[in-house]
Amino acid sequence: MCAFNSQSLTFLFIEQFGNTLFVKSASGYLDLFEAFVGKGISSYNARQRYGRKGAIKMVGSDIGIDLGTASILVYIKGKGVVLKEPSVVAFDRDTNKIKAIGEEARLMLGRTPGNIVAVRPLRQGVISDYTVTEKMIKHFIQKALGKKSFRKPLVSVCVPSGVTEVEKKAVEDATFAAGARDVKIIEEPIAAAIGAGIDISKPCGNMIVDIGGGTSDIAVISLGGSVVSTSIKIAGDDFDEAIVRYMRKKHNLLIGERTAEDIKIKIGTCYPLAQPETIEVRGRNLVTGLPRTITVSSEETEEALREATLQIVEAVHSVLEKTPPELAADVADRGIVLTGGGSLLRGLEELIEEKTGINTMTAEQPMTCVAIGTGKYVEFLAGKRDEEF
Ligand code: ADP
Ligand code: MG
Repeated sequence: MCAFNSQSLTFLFIEQFGNTLFVKSASGYLDLFEAFVGKGISSYNARQRYGRKGAIKMVGSDIGIDLGTASILVYIKGKGVVLKEPSVVAFDRDTNKIKAIGEEARLMLGRTPGNIVAVRPLRQGVISDYTVTEKMIKHFIQKALGKKSFRKPLVSVCVPSGVTEVEKKAVEDATFAAGARDVKIIEEPIAAAIGAGIDISKPCGNMIVDIGGGTSDIAVISLGGSVVSTSIKIAGDDFDEAIVRYMRKKHNLLIGERTAEDIKIKIGTCYPLAQPETIEVRGRNLVTGLPRTITVSSEETEEALREATLQIVEAVHSVLEKTPPELAADVADRGIVLTGGGSLLRGLEELIEEKTGINTMTAEQPMTCVAIGTGKYVEFLAGKRDEEF
């Protein structure tokens, strides 16, 4: 039997052995479908229900990638989030060869000898280095899928909403170059909302505040699109930098960004805690040049983080101001949802709630919901198309 596949413009040669159809395309790919001929079950359904029994399984074709400034997460349909690694690449400056990607490269940050540099190519939500980004995307797609991928995957990628068209195109090209069959670029707030379990298809306003490492994305979305949005380059990394600056000014102590992040995660807050906490911090005394350990309190972190967190609150405020009245009323009813790793900073819910008067809560899995939402967006689009017909 012979069929024509209009999508990839190839001829397919189909042979049937019992219940299994063997499909060979003219381009040389060999795909084995489990087909339940005469039972009225499509190969898609069959794969869903009986996939594990097939001679060779169809590789999960829908992948969602959260291309974050701090971490990259890969979601595979039916498997969930299969990979979460820092978006860091280490390469040799002399030969331009990549030495390590992900966690291995993160450990090299700030600790490399002269010729090796470890960089975060997506820092601040901008693709600062295209070739490195492409290699990183390719590495993670291959790592997530494993070696036995016969079919090219359909990949949806989430980018911060502030990125330019040129940058979006660069991500798209990098993903195609990394081996994708088709690529969909999605804005972060939409993906975050789907991942947080919000039904975005309704004509009802929802406000999402995604605080990542380099950027915070704030948007009011309705009917599957963002109505008002903004993206500011103030997020988790800036909280760390603010702590570094504070320690230098207040205690004459020089600390690295990783120590600052540690302080932020362990005792950091941007709203007074019922029971203040303290932590021992080791750094270099700027006066004597010698190592020194001091005790830092959560109240001090509140002071250090005030400016950066208030800038996020201000951005939320400005989006609310530009929101059409009906949608603003919906947001007031339904509350503001926080996502992203940065939203784990204690006191953010209380601070935003106090300044806006709107109930604010953090999503259940703030770190993974963008990746989950990115993967599910393709399904959402398919559902929408079905409704239209
Ligand atoms: P991106 O989407 O930009 O990759 P993520 O959503 O992964 O960013 O968030 C990364 C940020 O979250 C980092 O700045 C990190 O320090 C911060 N973060 C992670 N866990 C916590 C925590 N428990 N408390 C405060 N900040 C956190
Ligand atoms: Mg993110």
